[in-house]
Amino acid sequence: MTERLTIKKILKKTTDYFKEHGIETARLDAEVLLADLLDMERIKLYVNFDRPLTEVEINQYRQRVIQRAKRMPVAYIIGYQEFMSLKFKVNEDVLIPRPETEHLVEAVIQRVNKLADKREKLTVIDLCTGSGAIIISLAKELADVPLEINYIGTDVSQEALAVAKDNAKLHQVQNQIQFLVGDLLNPVKELNLKPDIIISNPPYIADKELQELEPELQYEPEIALKAGENGIDFYRQIISETEQLLTDGGIIGFEVGNQQSKSVYQLLEENNFINLTVIDDYAEVPRVILG
Ligand code: GLN
Repeated sequence: MTERLTIKKILKKTTDYFKEHGIETARLDAEVLLADLLDMERIKLYVNFDRPLTEVEINQYRQRVIQRAKRMPVAYIIGYQEFMSLKFKVNEDVLIPRPETEHLVEAVIQRVNKLADKREKLTVIDLCTGSGAIIISLAKELADVPLEINYIGTDVSQEALAVAKDNAKLHQVQNQIQFLVGDLLNPVKELNLKPDIIISNPPYIADKELQELEPELQYEPEIALKAGENGIDFYRQIISETEQLLTDGGIIGFEVGNQQSKSVYQLLEENNFINLTVIDDYAEVPRVILG
């Protein structure tokens, strides 16, 4: 009789296999993929270490392991990513939400709370919304603020917006958020909206950096990454158009790439934005700029 593979053994084998494929988070990934497949929390794997896997489970796990060894991101394999402690559906039509982006969401929450005494109504627009992670977590987090808030997410990609809409339903905020298809501020201009807050985590990878990205990023939509020679094309366009659109005292906020805080800061100054604030991420890289 052949010995059945247990959770403990398969995790060990898979971790070694992932390491051979240059995956730094080998053990973690092996565990996340298995825990999701078995529909148990990761910690429960340890409690069930000696549980043998069925033939079906082994085959399903093997499919996942092969995909991961080809450097497909774990989030695309399991179909979701956590962001702001919420689960977001993802697929290859959207960028996987990153923890760095949470700094932008948190900064906006603070600012909206401050505005709550001064206004009755607010319009918040998230450009390049992708999976909808930013605007949906804002709508959830700001649910108790005594303000009427109109949330809008825009994206050029119809496919991305389909994912964003699914996520809005998943988190029961589909009636509060409007998703509009179109390039950057175009849909906003067409509807003659006067936003109070415009935020974005736009594509920001410079052309020459595109080749040097880790293999996982090849699976992410190029349209969500590629941003011209210096990676600041989108910031430039958004900033130049936002000045005339925002209400008085309105707010602009961006996530920026590793090398971009200075150029984006400068662009904001040149376009008469004041009270500029730069926020570092956990790696102490300037990551969020608000004006
Ligand atoms: N706004 C989305 C996010 O932050 C997508 C960003 C993008 O596609 N560049 O995850």
